[in-house]
Amino acid sequence: MLEIELVESQIKYSVTPVCAMTGFEPGLSSPADCLRSLSSAVQETRAREQNIGAFSDSHDLKYRRTFRLLNDFPAALLDPEQLRIVLQPRVDLSSGEIRSAEALLRWQHPRLGPISPTEFVPILENSGLAWPMTRWVLDKAVRQLSAWRAQGFAMKLSVNFAASNLKEDVVEEILSVLAQHDVPCSLLEIELTEGSLMQNSAQVLAKLDRLVECGIGLAIDDFGTGYSSLSYLQRLPVSVVKIDQSFIRALGDGSREQKLVHSMIKLSHEMGYRVVAEGIEVPEAAELLRVMGCDEGQGYLFARPLELEAFDHFYRKAIEGSVASVA
Ligand code: C2E
Ligand code: MG
Ligand code: MG
Repeated sequence: MLEIELVESQIKYSVTPVCAMTGFEPGLSSPADCLRSLSSAVQETRAREQNIGAFSDSHDLKYRRTFRLLNDFPAALLDPEQLRIVLQPRVDLSSGEIRSAEALLRWQHPRLGPISPTEFVPILENSGLAWPMTRWVLDKAVRQLSAWRAQGFAMKLSVNFAASNLKEDVVEEILSVLAQHDVPCSLLEIELTEGSLMQNSAQVLAKLDRLVECGIGLAIDDFGTGYSSLSYLQRLPVSVVKIDQSFIRALGDGSREQKLVHSMIKLSHEMGYRVVAEGIEVPEAAELLRVMGCDEGQGYLFARPLELEAFDHFYRKAIEGSVASVA
């Protein structure tokens, strides 16, 4: 590591150089190709937190795909054939009622086919496209809320936000989308992962407070994966905690795993949060969670994320009194 110390100003700059290698054939490889593969090798070496690395075809493929997804997403935002939201219901574990659902983004790329959000969301979240993506989902979700209201249904929707979305004017933008479609704030919930909430500053906390003051719900997503301290969580104005699916899947493994989930539920209740279990796949887990006092559940047992029309059908059936599994 190179360290340059500016003694007078007391500011310490550190530069970490990375050395990467790539092969080329003189007279055959183009300079542009050579530079691109070198840049790919440098990025991969940095990503692995190493100091020395070499170009590899598989890393290069990943790098090119990332670049392509970033490049193609702006067109997807304008193409109704490419992006859509699907909805996964949240079921009240005691009554079986459906009170809300989560909006999840889907991308059907014209050449690459369906791309999983677990692949494209992390790439976009770290780019200038993070807000356009969330804004797109927010718009679709609020339109759906407005359509339900017109039909007399008081359903809530939650939308996943990235930490980078909590920019300067985010509260005003959200309020303006809601006002445009005449949807009350109380029907919208924002999900932020525990990990992303932990990196946040006092300014971000102030924004979260404002959102909650306006009546918008706030949920901690993937709870249990971020190792956040309880004193930190206590300062967040959240109303819902979504226990990560890894803990729910482990419920069948034994009493230690069950005790852990039980304590997460008790603790969350003591702090005044409503608890949602994510990723419920089997009836035994749903029953165990209900006995433990978990408020709501989401998972393939009740329904996979559904296309809008299928969700309407599922919801109508649920209102008629039967929360049938369509998974
Ligand atoms: P998440 O917000 O925790 O969403 C829950 C994920 O678990 C969804 O995956 C859902 O399909 C899946 N899931 C639900 N129930 C079950 C189950 O019983 N078993 C299993 N194995 N999986 C279940 P999906 O739709 O692939 O989304 C993955 C992640 O991508 C989301 O995790 C979220 O972090 C992100 N994501 C999806 N849509 C958006 C979006 O619009 N904006 C942002 N920022 N992130 C999004
Ligand atoms: Mg979520
Ligand atoms: Mg989650």
